[in-house]
Amino acid sequence: MSNSKPAEAPAPWCGRDFKPRVYAKHPPIICYDKPEASIVSKDEYDDKRYQALTGELIQTLVVPKREARTWTMQTGDLCRITVHEGSQVGDVNFWNLENTQERFYSGKTRQLHGAHLKTYDRLWSCLPYLRPMATFVFDTLAGYGIDEDGGALHDVIGTRCDDYTYKLITGKDRVGSCHSSLVKAVVEERGLTEQDVHDVWNIFMCTGFTKETQQYFCKPSPAIKGDFIEFVADMNLLVALSACPQGDVSIPVGAEVPDEKCHPLKVEVFRKK
Ligand SMILES: [Zn+2]
Repeated sequence: MSNSKPAEAPAPWCGRDFKPRVYAKHPPIICYDKPEASIVSKDEYDDKRYQALTGELIQTLVVPKREARTWTMQTGDLCRITVHEGSQVGDVNFWNLENTQERFYSGKTRQLHGAHLKTYDRLWSCLPYLRPMATFVFDTLAGYGIDEDGGALHDVIGTRCDDYTYKLITGKDRVGSCHSSLVKAVVEERGLTEQDVHDVWNIFMCTGFTKETQQYFCKPSPAIKGDFIEFVADMNLLVALSACPQGDVSIPVGAEVPDEKCHPLKVEVFRKK
């Protein structure tokens, strides 16, 4: 007769008897490896850029610090957003001007191109439309690339700073976030609602995920006065931009952001003649 105890039944919350397990290793396979629709002709878009910039400047607006504004664009228009006073990040939303149910889809844009957009990447609309809304054509910060921590600029990681998460972290009420600014702008200027504000294109912001824990991180924006990005509209667009109350994002979330860390952003729209 054996002295060993009979094997105990696995605990009911385990479901089965888990043993250390070895997983097969595979090299990463790029999903959505450059589908044809995501690749633009650089010559074609350089030409669209040239035609617009040598055409007419049809609108200039300044998004004041810690606020948001909206504007519209026609297909083929070029928008330049400039850090015209001091380092500042911005959150952008896009809607089809004729059907605001069709709006920017940051998650699919991230899968099609990458977590951070580079020139000639496109900004895609939500399902069931899934069409290019705009194409990124110029970036004075393109040389930043991907840094030693995996940080890069202009992410489509998603979301936007908001007062609900601020309260979750700090326990304090506040109104002063990209979300609240975007809501105010689309409600007051366009008759839309809070539900119309969606995940953003995070321009001039340096972000990534830590290698060890894959946690979201940010760094102070490397953008300085005079830096700009440009995109060409691939459909008639309503666009909203928030000049983030986190300013250049050099202060951690939850801490007070001094006014001198925040700046306005300049928007110019050019149209070919
Ligand atoms: Zn923000």
